[in-house]
Amino acid sequence: MVLRTKWTCELTEALDGKAVNVAGWVHSKRNLGGIRFLLLRDKTGIIQVTAIKKKLEPELFATIASLSKESVVSVSGQVKKNNQAPHGVEIIPETVTVLNPADTPLPLDVTGKVHAELDTRLDNRVVDLRRQNVTRVFIIKDALLAEFRRKCDDEGFVEVHTPKIVAAGAEGGSTLFPIAYFDREAYLAQSPQLYKQMLMGSGLDRILEIAPAWRAEKSDTIRHLSEFISIDMEMAFIESEEDVMGMLERVLAHALEHVRTSCSLQLEEMGVELPEVSIPFPRVTYSEAVELINASSETEVEWGEDLSTEAEKVLGKIMAEKGHDLYFITEYPSRIKPFYIMVNDERPEVCRAFDLEFSGMEITSGGQREHRHDVLINRMKEQGLDTSDFTFYLDAFRFGMPPHGGLGLGIERVVQIILDVKNIRETVLFPRDRSRLVP
Ligand code: ATP
Ligand code: MG
Repeated sequence: MVLRTKWTCELTEALDGKAVNVAGWVHSKRNLGGIRFLLLRDKTGIIQVTAIKKKLEPELFATIASLSKESVVSVSGQVKKNNQAPHGVEIIPETVTVLNPADTPLPLDVTGKVHAELDTRLDNRVVDLRRQNVTRVFIIKDALLAEFRRKCDDEGFVEVHTPKIVAAGAEGGSTLFPIAYFDREAYLAQSPQLYKQMLMGSGLDRILEIAPAWRAEKSDTIRHLSEFISIDMEMAFIESEEDVMGMLERVLAHALEHVRTSCSLQLEEMGVELPEVSIPFPRVTYSEAVELINASSETEVEWGEDLSTEAEKVLGKIMAEKGHDLYFITEYPSRIKPFYIMVNDERPEVCRAFDLEFSGMEITSGGQREHRHDVLINRMKEQGLDTSDFTFYLDAFRFGMPPHGGLGLGIERVVQIILDVKNIRETVLFPRDRSRLVP
């Protein structure tokens, strides 16, 4: 028997009297004695199956009556117009095949009527994902990534895959995950930073990578994961970091606009409205940001220190009042940015780094990189790094490295912000954090 001839969303009054097979999960059941209503859910929606005792074989009625919620079934029957049924149609069953009965009790209520804590949801993620507002997050994440990738392709970016088992980190030792690599210690890549820069010496010119990155984040926050998907872009022959910022705003605004229109139904069902994004995004220098934040007297930043989460939020509020959700922070103090960022030659206290902020949260760090071998070595020494650990990287700068720049963007943070999801863990199918290693 064919398990499915129609999706539930395809069942309309036009099919009145027609035979169909639908397949999915038993969403809920209602017992009116002589009548049993069964709501069957598939990927596209829900359909009512109406079993009238007097009109059915006793065996079939008994099967329907005995089904546990979330059992997997295929129902064949006739479509019937019924104004009282959701969507105006129901199915009068002829056979019900139980493909897999579900155990009871369920770990959480799929209909969403009973609230479940995030931990319970994540512990039982597969069942949690049966809720449409949960899967919608991943449909939207997919649309965002796909369009980002497509637009980068238009812009001449080549998608690459750099090694994820690495010998050295680029983003500070404290968040490295060590792993046993035969008889040596290696690490899970924190970012493709070193490799994407090395590839700028290859002639590929513009590269894109969309891949997991790992950070052993010690603190438990709503915006940090141990494993996240990083979109990394790197481009050669740039004049300044402005070229990278211009590229990012074009690609991101395009991808967000695509989501706003192509996922309008999902967004509406989630009760989310995406603002129209216009470019260019405003640029605020780090010094201006510090002034704005300090003038607010909500929190304080000393020039030269990194912006705290609180300071970022305060700036987010100030910018929102001016009508800006997305804005760049530029000209960071050189000493708080990594060695690979180019220092401003005229004003060495600041560098060519930028962050892109979205509603008071960092979503991207990027900048122009230092491509001059001797200057790069000095920067590494200044930051207390042992250059001999980085020979494989530095060698790429000895034989012709063009000026270049790039960025890393955490896709989960973007999804978290646009869907107004409280905790970043909700934007990952199976999130990893300090305490969570399964499922
Ligand atoms: P933060 O200061 O917010 O911890 P970061 O400056 O350490 O972030 P970068 O090294 O600049 O992060 O990484 C580039 C981007 O990758 C960030 O802007 C963010 O979008 C994303 N990202 C970094 N760490 C995480 C994480 N632990 N979980 C989720 N996304 C992350
Ligand atoms: Mg950063």
